[in-house]
Amino acid sequence: MSRIPLIAGNWKMYKTGPEAVETAMELAGLCSDVRDVEVMIAPTYLSLPLVAASIKDTDVKLGAQNLYFEKQGAFTGEVSADMIKAAGAEYVIIGHSERRQYFGETDSLVFKKIKSAIEAGLKPVLCIGETGKQKDEEKTFTVLDKQVSDGLKGFGLDELDDLVLAYEPVWAIGTGKTADTGQVNEVHQYLRSLLEKLFSKDFSHRTRILYGGSVKPENAKDLMGIEDVDGALVGGASLDANKFINIIKYNK
Ligand code: PEP
Repeated sequence: MSRIPLIAGNWKMYKTGPEAVETAMELAGLCSDVRDVEVMIAPTYLSLPLVAASIKDTDVKLGAQNLYFEKQGAFTGEVSADMIKAAGAEYVIIGHSERRQYFGETDSLVFKKIKSAIEAGLKPVLCIGETGKQKDEEKTFTVLDKQVSDGLKGFGLDELDDLVLAYEPVWAIGTGKTADTGQVNEVHQYLRSLLEKLFSKDFSHRTRILYGGSVKPENAKDLMGIEDVDGALVGGASLDANKFINIIKYNK
């Protein structure tokens, strides 16, 4: 079964609206000859409508970096899935390690966020990954098992059609360290078998599993060449359209 790779850029808390529009337009121009790879960028909430307008007639997709699970109400500072959808986004990143680490997001909160994303018609990108300490203590698989099981527990298969999983070892995010290809291969194979155990073989074969953590033009080909890696979630290197395009075109 063929899975179209997704290369997603997480712009974190970088770029003002005009800066985001400039990079998005530059990237869209560079992507005009890209085929068989889906490209998504996730700027800040504030930039979503601006970037949506600037990439409207291109193949670049838009995503948000987070959402709040309630539909509306007195939740100062929060943004709902419907608002993100109305701003023009197709994807939403959920459970990024920075959200878990700095904002105390738990697996049960992640579950509620995924649910509200699906209800709003957004495609959730569920981020999971072990910390350096958990890796040293050989707890990687236990941690991933819990994050996936608790984040997705109770969903019916029909609800998870658009789910994307992103394996991002926390110790590799923004550090310049990448997991070696053998380790990425082992973890992605594990995740695919976990999806089969929790849901079905067909589901595990059609669900995209991205790798994230210091992906750069120099290592993209090796990482993307791993059979069970279906694309990348890229932070730092996605901020520059010229760098990002060299990751997107890893096969060239
Ligand atoms: C990320 O933020 O999801 C990420 C992988 O960041 P970086 O590529 O900078 O490590």
